[in-house]
Order: sequence, then C-alpha cells, then structure tokens
Amino acid sequence: MSPAPLSLPREPGGHIALVGAGPGARDLLTFRAATRIAQADVIFYDRLVDPAVLDIARPQADRIYVGKAVGANAWPQDRICALIVAQARQGHRVVRLKSGDPGLFGRAEEELAAARQAGIPVEIVPGVTAASAAAAALGEPLTKRGETERVVLATATCRDGDGLPDLAACAQPGTTLALYMATRQLDAVHAALADAGWPPATRVTAVASASCDNQKTLQTTLGAMRTDIPAQGIANPAILFVTLPKPATEKAGAANPAPALLQIG
Ligand code: SAH
Repeated sequence: MSPAPLSLPREPGGHIALVGAGPGARDLLTFRAATRIAQADVIFYDRLVDPAVLDIARPQADRIYVGKAVGANAWPQDRICALIVAQARQGHRVVRLKSGDPGLFGRAEEELAAARQAGIPVEIVPGVTAASAAAAALGEPLTKRGETERVVLATATCRDGDGLPDLAACAQPGTTLALYMATRQLDAVHAALADAGWPPATRVTAVASASCDNQKTLQTTLGAMRTDIPAQGIANPAILFVTLPKPATEKAGAANPAPALLQIG
C-alpha cells in the first residue's frame, strides 16, 4: 500500500476516514487528522472529542454527535455504521472522529467491516492514545530500561457479561499495565492483582482528562487506590497505570517490592 495522500482527492463513491482525535487537546491532533477534518463533508464525533477540534472543519460540513453516554447507548453501533456508509454512498468524504487512537477500544472493527462490505474506501488515521498522553501528563515514560520492558494496554470494561480481561496473565514482572475504563472497576482490578500476588504497596498512578484543562493526576498504591481514586475526584475519562517492576533479585534496588509469589524460588 502506498502512503495516504496529504490531500484527499474526491472519490465519486465516497470515502470514510476513521480519524484519531487524540486525548483531548486540539494541538495533539496529527497533521493528517487535521487535514481530513478540514476536507470532510460530514463528521461523526464522539463524547470524548474536544469540540474545539471541530473548528477546523469547513463551515458547511455537517457535524453529527453520536456520543454514547456511559450506561446509555444513545447511538447504537449498527446505526453509526449504517449512517457513515449511507453518507459515503452519496459521494461524501466522511470523517468518523474517535478519541485517542481509533484502533484502541473504539469498535473500529465494526465500522471498517461496514465500509468494506459496502465497497467504500476506508482509511485509519492513527492518533495519540490516552496512555501516551497520560504518561506525558505525569512527566514519565511508559517504559524504563531494566524495570519495565513491556506495556500492556488493557480495558477494564468489556462487553456486558464478558467480565474483566485476564489481568493476572498480563501482570508479569517488568510490565507497565495501562488500564482504560477502569475507574468503575477498582474492586475487580484490585482483586485480580492482589490474587496474582502483587502487594498493597504496588505503585498505581491515575490520570483523568489527560491533556485537557481539567487534567488531574494521582499517585497511589494498589492497597489505597479504591479509596484514593474516588476521593481525589479521578473519574472517567481516566487511565490507571499499575507499575509492576522486575523482582528485586533481577533488578537490585527496584522501586517497588516484587510480589511475594514471584520471590519464591
Ligand atoms: N481510543 C481511545 C480509547 C477509547 S476508550 C484511545 O486510544 O485513547 C475510552 C477510555 O479511554 C476512557 O474511559 C479512558 O479510560 C481513556 N481515555 C480517553 N481519553 C482520555 C484522557 N484524555 N485522559 C485519560 N484517559 C482517557
């Protein structure tokens, strides 16, 4: 595949771009995202997208809010899919603006499938994901050489009835665990990590509304997070980092104690 063109030629059969809006701050949009927004005939956007981002659009572009309030599906996904396809079929350049990176916890797969089934050219424009923006807000890297050599991006909120992903399996020493949509699942997250042997002193950091004017950060621990996070007003959109360093035997002077289970042997 050749690189995406900077300026998009108008296709008679329409075009759909799934565009990452980044974490909130308008200047964290990529240049390509801004170009697609500026060229769009119609923009479907989400609750988490900063409305200032829409100022880039042409005045005559239609801006359609399809956000889902937590717990209420104002716009079912199949309706969004049908609408973006219907708009593209009219020859329109459609931008489906999604928070962060469109390929992470954004149901992009359903919109891609709808576009492909309809034979409409579809493109993904990547964006700055919440984990990157939140780490920047903390002034910290996501990985530290010799301590955390992998990052796991996981959601703590799955489809109804699916339960949590297997956090214990993700929580290997040497990991930064970035948990999206976790502030309503603190008990379950705590239980999964404590059961996996991680001690109460395990470092947890939380960032709400990273990159936005109302950004908040918090340093806490696995043991205290269930009280500290609500007490400090850390609410969605928020991301949690659990820092799971290598055991002290592997890395002398590690900042956090390694879990008891992993020290045996
Ligand atoms: N595609 C998005 C994630 C969508 S899921 C991305 O790549 O970032 C929505 C979740 O992302 C929120 O519940 C929250 O956990 C996280 N999130 C989105 N924007 C955020 C922000 N500005 N600060 C902290 N977390 C954010």
